[in-house]
Amino acid sequence: MGNPRAFLTIDRKEAGYRPMEERVRDYGEVEQTLAIEERMAQASRCMDCGVPFCHWACPLGNRMPEYQDLVYKGKWKEAYKVLNRTHPFPEFTGRICPALCEKSCVQALEHQAVTIRENECATTERAYSEGFVQPRIPQVRNGKKVAVVGSGPAGLGAADKLNQMGYDVTVFEKNEAIGGLLRFGIPDFKLSKHVIDRRLAILEAEGITFKTGVCIGQDIDPKKLEKDFDAIVLTMGAETPRDLNVENRNLPGVHFALELLQQQNRVNAGQEFSKEERISAKGKNVLVIGGGDTGSDCVGTANRQGALSVTQIEVMPKPFENEDPTNPWPAYPRLLLKTTSSHKEGCTREWSLNTLRFVANADGALSGAEVERVEWVTPEGGGRPNMVPTGEKKVIPCELVLLAMGFTQPNAKFVDAFKLDKDQRGNIATSALGQTSNPKIFAAGDCRTGASLVVRAIASGRCAADGVNEYIKGIERK
Ligand SMILES: Cc1cc2nc3c(=O)[nH]c(=O)nc-3n(C[C@H](O)[C@H](O)[C@H](O)COP(=O)(O)OP(=O)(O)OC[C@H]3O[C@@H](n4cnc5c(N)ncnc54)[C@H](O)[C@@H]3O)c2cc1C
Ligand code: SF4
Repeated sequence: MGNPRAFLTIDRKEAGYRPMEERVRDYGEVEQTLAIEERMAQASRCMDCGVPFCHWACPLGNRMPEYQDLVYKGKWKEAYKVLNRTHPFPEFTGRICPALCEKSCVQALEHQAVTIRENECATTERAYSEGFVQPRIPQVRNGKKVAVVGSGPAGLGAADKLNQMGYDVTVFEKNEAIGGLLRFGIPDFKLSKHVIDRRLAILEAEGITFKTGVCIGQDIDPKKLEKDFDAIVLTMGAETPRDLNVENRNLPGVHFALELLQQQNRVNAGQEFSKEERISAKGKNVLVIGGGDTGSDCVGTANRQGALSVTQIEVMPKPFENEDPTNPWPAYPRLLLKTTSSHKEGCTREWSLNTLRFVANADGALSGAEVERVEWVTPEGGGRPNMVPTGEKKVIPCELVLLAMGFTQPNAKFVDAFKLDKDQRGNIATSALGQTSNPKIFAAGDCRTGASLVVRAIASGRCAADGVNEYIKGIERK
């Protein structure tokens, strides 16, 4: 344990964001870092609880108390080693994880959780800058080949673990670059892409083969993949955005959130788009439909592009502001109001608004969205609340609409091609270790669970790697 009295004498301190006027003019990461002594002091606040709920809350089972103590003592190399034992890419989650661990920290009961996520990031950055992050090239190869389809966090998590176990791993990615939503969804102002490239160089040096611009099912027949590899891990994500089938949905100016976010990330990476292709919020009133994280990323991007105004609406009621009584500690408070750095940069937020139709002006161009206030009424005897229209309608003026309403089930063609069973929710049905109804094929990440989080995707990928290993060892034993 760090300093036994630190949790009483030192307050939680977050590094905070770059000044607003500065950060909205660029796409650089918004979060700042603490000075090293302050970071060590923050790590000292960990009480090394007898039952550390943070382990339980982190899908990767990170050992927070152990490495907080090492950070407090300035033993950065050892701290990174402890962190890296359970977590292959802490530099990603250190930046963008909603920190499930912090919500279950005992000090969260006093709104003073240890700054675990920031400490994770600082530990990893220190490890990189001191040269502690070096390729760990597996000494023994077992001659078995595994294909990973998709290079998001689930694919990378699976590939890394399998490679370290001695498998020959090939990752197939349909996009031009590796990273999945880390690269082409999450904006650069939350996660700079050099962070992915830096890790990718390590993974390549460790022996993983990456093939970009290869779409399985289009460029390579899934059946051929099945023949050429000893096992396959599907990690294609949940790519189908939920649509809004209302009048005038097809007006130019109504886009899925990822159309904007992907394009902006590509522009930041140096790609060019014609004027017709380019989606831009510059000089426009922007309406973001969907109150979640993707919507928030649209808000931040629209402001950086020079939007006149940004409004974000959500059909569900406004979440709880401070405590979520339906989800008490130590569980993650799913229904707590989240105000991000992007919201603070300028945005009107409204809840309980259902979108009825999009409105066109005399020239046929998008000029607004008609919305209606709704109430959510729990049926007598309990159950899920029903949406009840109130008749209170208005038009929100806008020239650009971004649909950020989540994702539906992915890649039916894979399910069919491999003849895989689905579960009740339409996801690929799997065992606990990700094995599908075809024993040679495993699934992990968003394509297994539906849209979720980076940390869950990495954990799921690592779990599927264990599944592949058990499967192949099982065949060898027969
Ligand atoms: C805008 C946005 C912001 C988000 N922000 C956060 C955040 O701040 N924190 C957080 O924890 N989570 C966040 N998430 C969620 C998180 O990004 C996902 O849960 C996570 O990336 C899922 O990982 P995955 O590997 O399963 O899928 P993905 O990251 O979607 O990767 C799937 C990959 O498979 C590839 N692929 C698909 N089909 C094929 C094929 N046939 N052949 C070859 N390749 C294929 C795709 O091109 C893609 O690269 C965000 C999501 C979005 C959309
Ligand atoms: S990955 Fe997320 S939940 Fe796990 S320790 Fe890091 S910040 Fe916490």
